[in-house]
Amino acid sequence: MLSIIPIPAFRDNYIWALHDGRHSAVVDPGDARPVLEWLDANAMELTAILATHHHADHVGGVPALRARYDVPVFGPAREAIPQRTHALGEGDRIVVPGIAIALSVFDIPGHTAGHIAYYALPPDPLVFCGDTLFAAGCGRLFEGTPAQMWSSLSKLAALDRQTRVYCGHEYTLANLRFAAAVEPESADIGVRIEHETGKRERNLPTLPSTIGAERATNPFLRAALPNVMAAAAAHAARPMQDVVDAFATLREWKNGFA
Ligand SMILES: [Zn+2]
Repeated sequence: MLSIIPIPAFRDNYIWALHDGRHSAVVDPGDARPVLEWLDANAMELTAILATHHHADHVGGVPALRARYDVPVFGPAREAIPQRTHALGEGDRIVVPGIAIALSVFDIPGHTAGHIAYYALPPDPLVFCGDTLFAAGCGRLFEGTPAQMWSSLSKLAALDRQTRVYCGHEYTLANLRFAAAVEPESADIGVRIEHETGKRERNLPTLPSTIGAERATNPFLRAALPNVMAAAAAHAARPMQDVVDAFATLREWKNGFA
C-alpha cells in the first residue's frame, strides 16, 4: 500500500514523499534536512529522488541526501540537475526503485525550459507537476513562452478528472483570490475558497488537488472559455486574439495582482 505525504520545506514548498512504510522516494527535495528528519522519525529508507525542474528550492537537497543514501536521481534531460543518474523526457516510463509504482513522463516547458511531470493513469491516477500547474494557478514563465505554457497546461488538463495533482507549493488561497477576480460569478470558485480556507485554518495542506477541480476553478486552464476571455479582454482593455493571448494576459494580470 503506497502513501504519499507532504514534507513542508522553506516557507511554502512541499517535498512529496511516496512510501510503503519502509521505503520512500521523494519528489523535489529542495532541502535535505526536513527529509532526513522525516526518514529518521519514521525509520524509513530513501530509495529514489525525482526532480521536476532545476530550481534550487526543488533540487537543493539532492547532494546532502545522496551523501547518506546512494540512490538514483531521476530528472529532466534538458536541465542541469545535481547528481542526476537518469535523464528523462516525454514518453519515458520509470519504475520507482524500492516502491511499486510506475510513472510516465510529460515534457511541460514554460516555468523552466526543460520542466517535466511524472504521472500515472487510472486506476490510481496522479501527477507530480512541480511549478507548472498549481491548485487554482500556474507557475511563472521564467524560461518559456505563453504558447509553451498553455500547451503544457493543456496536456495536464487532459488527464483523467480523478487524477490527484501534487504541486510544489502551497499557493492555493492566493490563487483562488485571483480566480474569483477573473470569474466573480463562479459558484465553484466560491465553494472551493470556503473549503480550502477551512483546511488552512486547521493547518492542513490544500493539496493534492484533482484535475477535475482544476478544470472547474483554475483560470489558467479555462482561458479558452468565453467568459474568461472576456475578463482578460476587459482587464487588458483590448480584444483577445486567441487563447494564447488570453492565457498570456491572465498570467500578466496575476503577476501584478495583490
Ligand atoms: Zn520553480
